[in-house]
Amino acid sequence: MVTKILDYIDGQWTDARAGDQLNVVNPAYGAVIGEVVMTPQSVVGQAVEAGHAAFLEWRRVPVGERIQPLFKLKALLDEHLDEIARVITNECGKTYAESVGELRRGIENVEVACGIPSLIQGYNNEDIASGIDEHMFRQPLGVTVAITPFNFPGMIPLWFLPYAVACGNAFILKPSEKVPMTSAKLFELIAQSGFPKGVIQLVNGSKETVDALLDHPQVRAVSFVGSTPVAKYIYSRATANGKRAQCQGGAKNPVVIMPDADMDMTTRIMADSAFGCAGQRCLAASVAITVGDARRTFSEQIADAAAGRVVGYGLDDGVQMGPVITAESKTRIEGIIAKGEQSGAASVLVDGRGRGVSGYEDGYFLFPTVLDNVDPKSEIANTEIFGPVLSLMHAQTVDDAIALVNDRAYGNMACIFTASGAVARQFRNEADAGNVGINIGVAAPMAFFPFSGWNDSFFGDLHGQGRHGVEFYTQTKVVVERWPREWSRQF
Ligand code: NAD
Repeated sequence: MVTKILDYIDGQWTDARAGDQLNVVNPAYGAVIGEVVMTPQSVVGQAVEAGHAAFLEWRRVPVGERIQPLFKLKALLDEHLDEIARVITNECGKTYAESVGELRRGIENVEVACGIPSLIQGYNNEDIASGIDEHMFRQPLGVTVAITPFNFPGMIPLWFLPYAVACGNAFILKPSEKVPMTSAKLFELIAQSGFPKGVIQLVNGSKETVDALLDHPQVRAVSFVGSTPVAKYIYSRATANGKRAQCQGGAKNPVVIMPDADMDMTTRIMADSAFGCAGQRCLAASVAITVGDARRTFSEQIADAAAGRVVGYGLDDGVQMGPVITAESKTRIEGIIAKGEQSGAASVLVDGRGRGVSGYEDGYFLFPTVLDNVDPKSEIANTEIFGPVLSLMHAQTVDDAIALVNDRAYGNMACIFTASGAVARQFRNEADAGNVGINIGVAAPMAFFPFSGWNDSFFGDLHGQGRHGVEFYTQTKVVVERWPREWSRQF
């Protein structure tokens, strides 16, 4: 069955018929499962205007009442977890367990945003001069927008939506056109949560729809998650139009393996980090840098783990890794591996190309791949592959390994596996990345911490989640006031 995915505008499911349509494909089957509308500029304009009208009322709703629909949404998300997780697996390809995991991380953000009455508080001073007081209040901005990627269709919209609306803004989601069915499910629940019409809206589409949002004068803030070239483009166009922007980009995450690390634990965690979600995580380990004797043991063990990973359709029992998102993505990744091998920049230790999954011959499967002796200066060492490919590099000392970690344009995550507190402490201090893991493979911050990408992995200053989210979605107003006693009637 092919599902038609509509927009949700001003409290109504809307068919933006003037726009084109795109097919949504299940990457395990290679079969069309949905059609999504590409919302044209005129309909985007209607959504922004409806959002602005809703904002003018919503911002006056007391903050304790604004969070009540979020409690309802959290309960509905818990109740429908299984159903949404299946949708994620079917359009995105990851395993059922991975889909449940990402939803739980998304729900965590709804929970944190339920604490906005405390988080949004300002501060004040009495008597900054004789009889004069000064206060800082946080006020909402207006219509806010998030443009999200394909790889976490349940979690990433929830990095932004709950904070935006609890702070008193209107919010419009433009999800990835590759995975719009998860957002449609989320919006079925949002529609039952009790938000006034126009406060939360969904517009589907790709570049034309995004550009219409970036250029609309009533859009005040833009959150983006996706690849670095698009993050740069969106950051420059949004800020040139006078909007706030926070744009999370791509990654190439290095992990240092010290010889004193617990090698069994390290291998298990590293295999999940590199090959989980078919390597399509912005926090995937994509470069492992061994130090000294760790080279031999880790290389052997990770090669075994890669070769033994069970690949297939994510709803089938026992499957540990699903397909990559599209046929183009598979071809692109295979091309990067071939180029790295042919140029002598890497040797292929475990080759995941040219293998299929029985019963799913049309799926976009690429098996785990390990590249050895990757030249740190080569193109392959510096390209975000975004597939199940782990590159091995080797260093003699921790200083050399940290130099390799920091010789990268991205800065989303860096990790180290070691039994030494002193080495871990040096790494924590010197690694040039915003999210650091120590004996952790995917250092994903909890919802009450900022998702702190650096360098080419982030454009802006306030990150998503937690207190940064509250600051991003509010503007500070400072009031200085004097009330002379003699102006009051004597009581
Ligand atoms: P993408 O950049 O292709 O698309 C992201 C969003 O931007 C989609 O909604 C898409 O419709 C829109 N878009 C694409 N091209 C556009 C253009 N030219 N103009 C305007 N809008 C455009 O990213 P993707 O392939 O969906 O996701 C994978 C990327 O996202 C990877 O690079 C990954 O590292 C990154 N990512 C980063 C984080 C993070 O937290 N830093 C998290 C998840 C994913």
